[in-house]
Amino acid sequence: MRDRVTLACTECKQRNYDSAKNKKNTPDKIELKKYCSTCQKHTIHKETK
Ligand SMILES: [Zn+2]
Repeated sequence: MRDRVTLACTECKQRNYDSAKNKKNTPDKIELKKYCSTCQKHTIHKETK
């Protein structure tokens, strides 16, 4: 039941992280603050397909 998701920086749109989530537990799009090597700072990363 775990789906692979990609997390993309909301500032530069770079896809920096891969993750997995359980759609039953987490039906909404996930947003995580993570370090972006392109922006060289922590930015919000959003789930993308
Ligand atoms: Zn970025």
